[in-house]
Amino acid sequence: MLTPVEKILFVLAVALSLWLAQQTFRRAFAVIRRGEGTLSLDDLPWRIWRALDVTLTQRTVLRARPLTSLLHSFVAWGFIFYVLVNLGDVIEGYFAVQFLGSGVVGDLYRLVADVFSVLVLAGMVYFLLRRFVANAPALRFHDGVLLHERVLSGLRLDSLIVGLFILTHVGARFLGESFWVALHGGSDTWQPFASLVAGLWGGLGHDALEVGEHALWWLALGAILAFIPYFPSSKHMHLFMGPLNYFSKPARASLGALDPLDFADDEREQFGVARLEHLSQTQLFDAFACIMCNRCQDACPAYLTGKQLSPSALEINKRYEIRQHMALLAAGGESPRPLLDFAITPPAVWACTACGACVDICPVGNEPMFDILDIRRDLVLTQGEFPAELQGAFKGMENAGNPWQMGGSRLAWAEGLDVPTVEGAGEIEVLYWVGCAGSFEPRAQKIARALVHILRAAGVRFAVLGEREGCTGDTARRAGNEYLFYEMATANIETLNEVNPPRILVTCPHCLHTLAKEYPQFGGHYQVVHHTEFIAELIGSGRLRLPANGAQRVTFHDPCYLGRHNDIYRAPRAVLSAAGAALSEMPRARAKSFCCGAGGAQFWKEEEHGSARVSQARYAEAQGTGADVLATGCPFCLSMFADARQDAGESGPAVKDVAEIIAERLGAAL
Ligand code: SF4
Ligand code: SF4
Repeated sequence: MLTPVEKILFVLAVALSLWLAQQTFRRAFAVIRRGEGTLSLDDLPWRIWRALDVTLTQRTVLRARPLTSLLHSFVAWGFIFYVLVNLGDVIEGYFAVQFLGSGVVGDLYRLVADVFSVLVLAGMVYFLLRRFVANAPALRFHDGVLLHERVLSGLRLDSLIVGLFILTHVGARFLGESFWVALHGGSDTWQPFASLVAGLWGGLGHDALEVGEHALWWLALGAILAFIPYFPSSKHMHLFMGPLNYFSKPARASLGALDPLDFADDEREQFGVARLEHLSQTQLFDAFACIMCNRCQDACPAYLTGKQLSPSALEINKRYEIRQHMALLAAGGESPRPLLDFAITPPAVWACTACGACVDICPVGNEPMFDILDIRRDLVLTQGEFPAELQGAFKGMENAGNPWQMGGSRLAWAEGLDVPTVEGAGEIEVLYWVGCAGSFEPRAQKIARALVHILRAAGVRFAVLGEREGCTGDTARRAGNEYLFYEMATANIETLNEVNPPRILVTCPHCLHTLAKEYPQFGGHYQVVHHTEFIAELIGSGRLRLPANGAQRVTFHDPCYLGRHNDIYRAPRAVLSAAGAALSEMPRARAKSFCCGAGGAQFWKEEEHGSARVSQARYAEAQGTGADVLATGCPFCLSMFADARQDAGESGPAVKDVAEIIAERLGAAL
């Protein structure tokens, strides 16, 4: 037990430590409050549940890097349990009691504390070795990625301080318990590890053991008091900010549904994000929540093919800039420089495929993709600076209603098929939204024709909009041209609300995403179904019967906007299996699917310089499965892989849409 003087000293030390820490915390929240909008605090029970769920289960961490994640989870669970341990130690310091007593509860408490102490220590040794001895590739950045000038040295120092703090705190507490065990008979069944170490103190007398236990009590708790003022500046802050980030994130219609801009606000001069203070509150929060683990970088197709883009570097750079100018920013001052000077380069901004892999994999709920697309909005709408090739796509959407800039009929693809338009179709089950690719791009037109064949075979009553259909504007939105997207979306919504279709059937996941998940922002609420889902329905209900002929080995590529953005994984595989295909998965499948390289308006511009093309990297992965066919459910993926196959000398699997495979089974000549 502490002496009266020590008790007073401890209270004073706690007060000083908390006072120093709250200053940094207050500044951090003042910086976050500078951001646009507000943090989301509606539906509190769901938010509390979400934050507790990810923190206690560690399930977002455990999705990747199995060994590292398991050890991280031990450290996290250990730290959570150590809140109770620290409380118990303080109580034992102030009162002559044994925390939780020596009954079953007390025994279990000592056992769990003992086991977690060892697991946390083992985890921290692993993490320090991984960073400082092995210099693990996962913790590095390749050349060309822009890093804030303080990042490299700052990350190492921060990791060292945090690592040494945890080793000191948990190590001292564990050793203190071994002294306690030595003082109380030399062995405690419920502290097996501390008992093992207690054997080392056999030569020490009672007084020496008491002094040792006392000193280690101070070292364990003193380490916390010394660390607390630094805590809000360290990456260890993710311990609180990670769960709080999940707690305060907006509930999005889907992983990548972007927020609209308010063009009705005449006072507004800034559209999109150029500086830190233009970011939304949740985007600023991301910088504080970031663990700096680089998992998003590991999943990023642009980074993995050697481009300048690293989503983790973006978050880390934001954090270091905020940290450097915290007082200025908290006091409301203008940030010293634009994001493009320290956070991300323009080529990196334009290398993003908007695939959402970084958002999906982040263990603390960060959304770097949204920052990048908001920076594009600034570049397009405010600065007027964007890749020249995009000008053609924008002009095409504005003047011809499609990014291909194609004049002529939107129904040319259907020549000879006698496809009905809504005007003369009578009652329909589905409106087939053909999309610009299906309407104008020769390879994608085959998908549209294949689908018509399937619909006819199943006796589905359908129609198309024909010339009344317009581009959904997906490309404009992902490219940062929100105003053009707004115009296209509102025009389509006017048409669709007039037609009022029971369901909309699409063959393009980008149409699916914008129509179903983003048009509601402008008053368009529709039931939208992807053709792979619809075909699965037709097979399931018995309306579509497939001859079980021609088994092929097929690998399915999950398009980002079908899978990760809209959670559709089962239907395409079910359809392919029903068609007799033997499925073999690529190493990166379903939510971990690797982009084809077309999304985020990449299809309309030259790919940034790197070590490989994204489509080639993915096609090589498909080749590795030994499949005869690379199947997909997106006209843009199809086009990218068809090109990649050509680059590979037409030597790999044939590239087909699921609809084409089914139509072939039905005997269609496409
Ligand atoms: S959205 Fe995809 S391409 Fe863009 S930063 Fe994230 S992972 Fe990289
Ligand atoms: S943004 Fe998320 S995944 Fe990326 S480094 Fe930060 S915590 Fe890790």
